[in-house]
Amino acid sequence: EIYCDNAATTALDPLVIEAILPYLTNHYGNPSSSHWAGRAAREAIAAARQKIAALIGASPEEIFFMSGATEANNLALTGAIRSNDISHVITSKIEHKAVLQHLARHEKAGDIEVSYVKLDDFGNVDLRHLENLLDNNPQSLISLMHGNNEIGNITDIVAVGELAEKYNAVFHTDTTQTMGKLLINVAEFNVDFLVGSAHKFHGPKGVGFIYINKRNQIKPLIVGGGQENGQRGGTENVAGIVGLARALEVAYKSRAVVQNHVATLKKHFIESLDDLTIGGITFNGESRSATKGLSNIVSVAFPSLLSGSLVSQLDHLGIAVSGGSACSNLRSGGSHVISAIYKNPDKEIVRFSFSKFNTLEEIDHIVKAIIRIYQSDQADDVLSLQ
Ligand code: PMP
Repeated sequence: EIYCDNAATTALDPLVIEAILPYLTNHYGNPSSSHWAGRAAREAIAAARQKIAALIGASPEEIFFMSGATEANNLALTGAIRSNDISHVITSKIEHKAVLQHLARHEKAGDIEVSYVKLDDFGNVDLRHLENLLDNNPQSLISLMHGNNEIGNITDIVAVGELAEKYNAVFHTDTTQTMGKLLINVAEFNVDFLVGSAHKFHGPKGVGFIYINKRNQIKPLIVGGGQENGQRGGTENVAGIVGLARALEVAYKSRAVVQNHVATLKKHFIESLDDLTIGGITFNGESRSATKGLSNIVSVAFPSLLSGSLVSQLDHLGIAVSGGSACSNLRSGGSHVISAIYKNPDKEIVRFSFSKFNTLEEIDHIVKAIIRIYQSDQADDVLSLQ
């Protein structure tokens, strides 16, 4: 079996499992308890917070643990809108649904108006249009993702941060797909809110964090026992938090080597697809580019098959990939990201996303499987003509 759906989620790193285990066994204390068991859990969380803060150039007091990027995005948006009295939000049509749906809710409630920044033919944010929007609506909230989960496009967050500063805007960025892959420095980005989710970088699912710049005072979405300095009630996911910090630490330590490896896989895959005789294969967004797009995501538009979808045929052959993204797979209507950029009649969008655990042999195997599927599809075509 081959797993090439690493933008959906990743396998746990063995080093992360090792770090987590003691907190699933011996160190089971509640971090809010005053005794030795509580102290051990509390200290583990403090150490995790410290590690993450150091890796992204933040202070530990600016890091808050959450259940993942969905919750963190929701908190950032509602928090920013309510505490800054924001009435205008600038975002893009290719943000994750955790952002778009949450903004739609505020829009429906009459809290905000939403403007969508123009995208170029490859799905890149038009910075000049962003500046125009800001010029007309200073003190907006900007919500733009760092790396896109479907097509791998990377936004120039430093440039967006400079515009945010110039126009006195509040700036939120979703770094779920770039955390541990690209260098992230909150000061350089000039962001107010930034989020990450552990399972995208070989950590556990159901745990993530939000960075909230000190200058922002926002109200929590989840209230209760006052955990996370009042920013999120509920007993902390201690093992998850330890795993998150360890996963990010491992990702940073091996970043250059891993990025190099996945870029090699990507290049080989793209070249192999280019060499195929199956006509009409194109690449979405910047996923063809090694320098502009994320090095682990290749989004491909394939000619439609007569017999079912390519994703399910690959699945039959033991190859796990995604149509667009995992989130849009399970819903009807296709990908909102692809339809924001392309009209794709008679094309099937397949996202291949690699990790350090993939190999060149696996890429060759996938390419062979694609050839086989199309050959048997053409055979079906001949039969249906007879
Ligand atoms: N933002 C982006 C860009 C993502 O790719 C994802 C995961 N698909 C999320 C947010 C949500 O993360 P989680 O499911 O861990 O809450």
